[in-house]
Amino acid sequence: MILEEKLKSEIRDVPDFPVPGIIFKDITPIMMNPVLSKEVLEELKQSVLDLGITKIAGIESRGFLFGYPLAMELGLPFVLIRKKGKLPYHKVSHAYALEYGQAEIEMHIDAVNETDTVLIHDDLLATGGSASAAGQLVNNCGAKVAGFSFLVELEFLGGREKLLPFTENILTLVR
Ligand code: 5GP
Repeated sequence: MILEEKLKSEIRDVPDFPVPGIIFKDITPIMMNPVLSKEVLEELKQSVLDLGITKIAGIESRGFLFGYPLAMELGLPFVLIRKKGKLPYHKVSHAYALEYGQAEIEMHIDAVNETDTVLIHDDLLATGGSASAAGQLVNNCGAKVAGFSFLVELEFLGGREKLLPFTENILTLVR
């Protein structure tokens, strides 16, 4: 079976989570399967090898699950992008609009700089709001976005369009 099919058969659709009408893609069964997890890591690694990445930034919290192992596999530093108020040291922040209200993400001030080309990783691309905010935060520090990687893309939400201004390198394992 190809990787996409294996992932589709493991990812669990949970109806009405976190609110009625939403079908949540639960990726935790992938973590319960270490053989598949290794395949995911290897596929991500091979797909980003040629991008000239200097650092990987993971989006809280499921972006940490494969983002940090991927950084270790590639021998690259890993950077945490977190929700406001979670990081202990001096920070840079970026506020962005949600459907209802606002959100703010943060990164340590010394995490990336103008010498960096960064891969931004998260588990899932939906509307693209989180990933484009992460791209903006990285750009605000003078660094380039070399690519985005996700395990899952919900294509019908069109999130990819929001990321194209940063880069065309948008890797998704399941669509
Ligand atoms: P977006 O900002 O693209 O609309 O939403 C993506 C963010 O929300 C990601 O950080 C992702 O973890 C989370 N997210 C939204 N919907 C789902 C879902 O169905 N499954 C999972 N695993 N994460 C989701």
